[in-house]
Amino acid sequence: MSAPQYEIYAIKYAHHARRASENFIGGVPDDAHDGPMPLDYFVWLIRGAGCEIVVDTGFSAATAARRQRDHLRCPTEGLRLLGCDAKTVKEAVITHLHYDHVGNFDLFPAATYHLQDLEMNYATGRHMGKPVFSGAYDVEDVVGMVRSNYAGRVRFHSGDAAIADGISVHLIGGHTMGLQVVRVATRRGWVVVASDASHFYANMEQARPFPIVYSVAAMVEGYGRLRELADSPAHIIPGHDPLVLERYPAPSEALRGIVARLD
Ligand SMILES: [Zn+2]
Repeated sequence: MSAPQYEIYAIKYAHHARRASENFIGGVPDDAHDGPMPLDYFVWLIRGAGCEIVVDTGFSAATAARRQRDHLRCPTEGLRLLGCDAKTVKEAVITHLHYDHVGNFDLFPAATYHLQDLEMNYATGRHMGKPVFSGAYDVEDVVGMVRSNYAGRVRFHSGDAAIADGISVHLIGGHTMGLQVVRVATRRGWVVVASDASHFYANMEQARPFPIVYSVAAMVEGYGRLRELADSPAHIIPGHDPLVLERYPAPSEALRGIVARLD
């Protein structure tokens, strides 16, 4: 691999206690298979070769209170733990416009946002009149992204695109119309930050889709696409699985349980 080798960090900023039956279409086979299966919320930092790219911007404490999630820290505080100042970040990939991925965008005043055409179309189009599709969007976040676009701060992609040497975005869809994932060259090979292409390891490993979905077919196809893009299943990072913090090491003892190093 001749591309630069980047560092990637997953930074946990929130938590939501829930049951396994809430995380799969059709729930679980029976009560014996149900039990606690909490969601963690992450933002990701890619760093190296003189660049610093944030993947998603998380949500605020106010949003957490409104949606009854446990807010542990502002994602920008999590970034600061790694020496990254949100105010000076120049590039952010927004995997999709759901509230837990694009809230706080106003805390990144210098950033250009990488977004799929289809995601903006979806979030501003006909389907948002239906709560089943709009429920995980906050209209103020979407309006904020429209304003950012008018300010010349959104870089749109249509499908697969390189955004730096060794870093690319890939349209997956499924969960939303325009969900994209990020593929990164690292010292251990190609790692894919899957975001909500697979919330948990179990969704992709067992082909059991998460219930918030635009297209079930695209979501299930997406599991295969993730495997094509990554060097191995261990190179795919799900978007909300607490296991990420167990399977990958903390960069320091002080950051255990908060940050995992993925490269
Ligand atoms: Zn999410």
